[in-house]
Amino acid sequence: MRTMKKGGWPTRKKILLTVSILVIVMCACSSKTDTKLPITEVRYDLLNTVITISIYEDVSDIVFSKVFDKIADIEKTMSAVSTDSEISSIAAMAGKSPVKLSAEAYYVIKEAYDITVASNGAFNLVISPLVKLWGVNTPSPHVPNQADIERVQGLLDYSGVVLSDADRSVYLPNEGMSIDLGAIAKGHAGDAAAEIVRGYGVKHAVLDLGGNIVAIGGRLDGTDWRIGVRNPIVGESGYIGVLSIQDKAVVTSGGYERYFESDGQFYHHIFDGRTGYPADSGLLSVTVISASSIDADKLSTVAFVLGVRDGMDFLKAYDDTEAIFITTERVIYLTPGITNTFVVSDDRFRIEAEQK
Ligand code: ADP
Ligand code: MG
Repeated sequence: MRTMKKGGWPTRKKILLTVSILVIVMCACSSKTDTKLPITEVRYDLLNTVITISIYEDVSDIVFSKVFDKIADIEKTMSAVSTDSEISSIAAMAGKSPVKLSAEAYYVIKEAYDITVASNGAFNLVISPLVKLWGVNTPSPHVPNQADIERVQGLLDYSGVVLSDADRSVYLPNEGMSIDLGAIAKGHAGDAAAEIVRGYGVKHAVLDLGGNIVAIGGRLDGTDWRIGVRNPIVGESGYIGVLSIQDKAVVTSGGYERYFESDGQFYHHIFDGRTGYPADSGLLSVTVISASSIDADKLSTVAFVLGVRDGMDFLKAYDDTEAIFITTERVIYLTPGITNTFVVSDDRFRIEAEQK
């Protein structure tokens, strides 16, 4: 029997998301800083999460409205749920004809397709039928029966998906197939938001899209932003360590972000298309640090599905990309380039050298 905590899924999800901002921005002010700073604006329920924009300079309010309008626009275009999004029109025409897209939707789908191919389907842009079958993004998530899982797995084969740069069209070869950009759209939104903020000449800001962080510049005194990485264990809170960065995106994929409980088992929202079940690679979370937020978002999902060894291996192909893997055993693995910039602050977790 399925057990849900009190409050039902929607309320609970909201609370969860609110407390699960996986990366906490620590005090960003220097002693000389104007005490009115940062100027912060928060919006709830955009991209299904909480979005906090903090700018450490005196800026016009227009910057904030432009950023939130842009994020709302991305949500509308890329939502797998809304029936009038570009994404849902591709699903409606699956097995029938290609669908021409806006430049922005095409760009994100192409990024999703390329990482799907590169990761051999660990990231799968057509995972949507499986995500929908489990209902993890709905008020009634549940463990499906095996026959349904196998039927839906037949719709996850991305090899027949056709992208055409010439007319920016996308074609899904079989009826029932559909695209899910949940593991990449927020990353793109982070880049788009940062572009707007930078376009106004802002040199010091932190954009937090539900734990997808984009740090612009460094702190006002030139030192690094200090970003906390959240404890990924369900039921625990706080952060397990601190990352020092400037001008970087920091994105975490974690099983604790969205999950439900059934017969005493936890089921989260990141799936392994090969098993039809939530990815079970021994990880609680993966945080990726990269210059681009879309890259960090897609790669954190890939690494989470692949696990420490294969995930580390996969990331080697990406320059200037670092990662923090946290296993179910409370062991932290770091990519070599980040050993000096990440410091563990919770002694229940320990860093180990890379697995051989
Ligand atoms: P978060 O939601 O914490 O940002 P991710 O970036 O990993 O985490 O995105 C998870 C979302 O991506 C899921 O809610 C689902 O919509 C979709 N998804 C789940 N599994 C996969 C997968 N293997 N490949 C691509 N997208 C996925
Ligand atoms: Mg992702």
